[in-house]
Amino acid sequence: MILADMHTHTRYSHGASTPEDMYAAAVARGLTCLAFTEHSPRPVGFDYTHEYREHLTRHLPDYVREVRALRDGGGACEALLGMEMDWLDGQEDFTRAACAACDYDVLLGSVHFIGRWGFDDGDTPWKSFSQEECDRQYQAYFEAWERMIRSGLFHVASHPDLVKIFSVEQFHVWLSRPESMDLVRRGLTALRDAGMCMEISSAGLRKPCGEIYPAAPIMSMAAQLALPITFASDAHCVNDVAHGFDRLASYARSFGFREYTVVRRGHKIAMPF
Ligand SMILES: [Zn+2]
Ligand SMILES: [Zn+2]
Repeated sequence: MILADMHTHTRYSHGASTPEDMYAAAVARGLTCLAFTEHSPRPVGFDYTHEYREHLTRHLPDYVREVRALRDGGGACEALLGMEMDWLDGQEDFTRAACAACDYDVLLGSVHFIGRWGFDDGDTPWKSFSQEECDRQYQAYFEAWERMIRSGLFHVASHPDLVKIFSVEQFHVWLSRPESMDLVRRGLTALRDAGMCMEISSAGLRKPCGEIYPAAPIMSMAAQLALPITFASDAHCVNDVAHGFDRLASYARSFGFREYTVVRRGHKIAMPF
């Protein structure tokens, strides 16, 4: 059984629930560990349609204070203070400073932007893309993903193939090519060498792609490389805490994984499941 959800959000970004309510949901589901990994404010110019930068920036001290109170509260479920950081090409100094701003237990590295385009913001542009245009975006995404890993700033690579969110069929066409898997392998090998974990996320099950992140070919390669893995719901409300964890467990087991990881104060702790 998976007992740790290593990626969740609160109402302080675009989530719906307070840290306290997310924690209560984790306790109710029998988790022994819940990582709060709120988004970190992005620099101006990296914008979503419904941008929450101001709200998030204003409430970051509340987030840290409330999660610390849960962490120090000694409850049956351990609360971890984390952040989900964006990898934004050309913004490494900004990101490095944000990572160092607090005594975080765990830092997630995520690519949500290709250049200045938040590619997971909506399906509209994707709908008009040819296979060739999709291929260019997948290529650019995994190149950025490798740079994110090589930065050495993060403990976990989140939702490894998020880029499939609105074009899963085209993504599998791309992924079936040997040169695509070569690019993925470069990222995964860098991840292993950096001592990072790869996240397995149920969020994709709730998105148009309808698939766990990452897809099976990436899971196989991760298993060959014996990468440490974390499990995550990427919950943005109480109902999604530990969402799909039975499916995540059988999915990971089918590739030979028998342990997952909790990251606390940057240290990895292996757990059976
Ligand atoms: Zn994310
Ligand atoms: Zn997230």
